[in-house]
Amino acid sequence: MRMSNLLLPTLREVPADAEITSHKLMLRAAMIRRLGSGIYSYLPLGLRVLQKVEKIIREEMNNADAQELLMPALLPAEAYQASGRWDVFGASMFKLKDRYDRDYCLGPTHEELFTQTVIDNVKSYKEYPMTLYQIQTKYRDEARPRFGVIRSREFVMKDAYSFDTSDEGLDESYKKMYDAYNRIFERLGLDFTVVDADSGAMGGSGSQEFMVKSPVGEDGIAYCDCCGYAANYEKAECVNAPKPSAEDGGDMEKIHTPNVHTIEELVSFLGAEPYNFAKTIIYKADDKYIAAMVRGDREINEVKLKNLVGCTDDLELAEPYMVRQLTNAEVGFAGPVGLDIPVYVDKEVETMKNFIIGANETDMHYKNVNIGKDFTPHTVADIRVIEEGDACPRCGKPIKTAQGIEVGHVFKLGTKYSEALGLTFQDEDGQSKVVTMGCYGIGVTRCLSAAVEQNNDENGIIWPVSIAPFEVIVIPVNAKNEEQTEAAEKIYNELKAKGIDALIDDRNERPGVKFKDADLIGIPVRIVVGKKIGEGIVEYKERTAPSSAEKTVGAAVDDVVKFVESRR
Ligand SMILES: [Zn+2]
Repeated sequence: MRMSNLLLPTLREVPADAEITSHKLMLRAAMIRRLGSGIYSYLPLGLRVLQKVEKIIREEMNNADAQELLMPALLPAEAYQASGRWDVFGASMFKLKDRYDRDYCLGPTHEELFTQTVIDNVKSYKEYPMTLYQIQTKYRDEARPRFGVIRSREFVMKDAYSFDTSDEGLDESYKKMYDAYNRIFERLGLDFTVVDADSGAMGGSGSQEFMVKSPVGEDGIAYCDCCGYAANYEKAECVNAPKPSAEDGGDMEKIHTPNVHTIEELVSFLGAEPYNFAKTIIYKADDKYIAAMVRGDREINEVKLKNLVGCTDDLELAEPYMVRQLTNAEVGFAGPVGLDIPVYVDKEVETMKNFIIGANETDMHYKNVNIGKDFTPHTVADIRVIEEGDACPRCGKPIKTAQGIEVGHVFKLGTKYSEALGLTFQDEDGQSKVVTMGCYGIGVTRCLSAAVEQNNDENGIIWPVSIAPFEVIVIPVNAKNEEQTEAAEKIYNELKAKGIDALIDDRNERPGVKFKDADLIGIPVRIVVGKKIGEGIVEYKERTAPSSAEKTVGAAVDDVVKFVESRR
């Protein structure tokens, strides 16, 4: 490709609405352009990267015996009504009507469609196992689209579904996808971690996420360098290390705590430690209310709590008027004693003695509180968020935490959709049985952002060779010097003839502009043709190398081929 023909409106200025590195760089390097909130176009360079990512995914999925098909994005409501998800998706589903007033949506995910396709088209148990996939545009009306294509409202996903006649079959299909995902993310040049993930809400039996560690990631992960344990926050199991109790061993006593609303204010008012308190939070769980208690310095893990309560919708903090009604006090004084709703207590609170709680009375707390003696929990379970330094649930060493960008997810769905939609098969004995399913997603467009987050410097993007829009750029320093331009053309053509994805900067620009653009758009290697071309010498520079090296034309071309082919 000739740069003079390329639509490459690079930006020197950082766009004001871009908050994170990948978003800024993808805009500046003319990979993407914003069309509306969470909606992006891919310009030629960005599309080349996207297509290379898709190619790698396709190759590995096909190698794992998955078959590609393509579902529509415009879906009739009936597809989601049978499974109940027409209502469950709520505001995050883009819903629309056709001219006859019939309901449709723009597909947010395709479990139902794949299940229906198998119901309609597979006639014999002999056709299983089967894994189907597509690379498709999905739509979700995110409440807060942000970070460019990390959380957008239109995005490309690879979604795959496996269909098996037994749990052992599902285990095998899952393993094949798991292995394929490892190869995919390695080939994409991502530094990733596989973590155990929560599967409770969807009723499955096993689930893992592929996370790219990054400070801008929206998911918390807990991992252990000693034993290799890794889980996301929702799943990570908390092991408790009891803290010293308050010494007073007397009976529960009501104390006056005027104008004290937060744990911090209480700590200084009472001269106690945050771990001497247990805080009580009231939630709305579907159509009822519940209370949850954790130690004063801990956070409630709402996913663990939701799974424990068994509600359909996500938990919501109770409205202030309901808190007042349920506790007979202002917000900030809730406690378990005398509360007329189920109280879920974190198991760490069980290790506490003589602690302090809200008294369900404005400006009042109780001290010297003990579980069993002063109140009886509805349930005691692990409902807190794991923290850096907590004991690893597997080996006991201190756990580490990081933020991650979720790029892939593998999930044993089991029979949730096949049961709801009636996907059954007749086995050899003529018995009717339910098919068991797995689902496997990759956030294709999100992989681009994740790759840029992990591979950049102050000059721009450093694309891994496997997904770089071009593998090498040839730059004649002086566009008016015939010897330089002719030699550059020759090198460019030779590289193309050797199967290298080459770009030539044939624009009539100053060398500084050309070098800046080459670095910004992240081309992995460049060959600069300058004054020494008369002696047959060019400059060879890898994007990550601190400086360039002089080489003969032949050696430079050979080195590009070697460098690129070993990294594809
Ligand atoms: Zn460990």
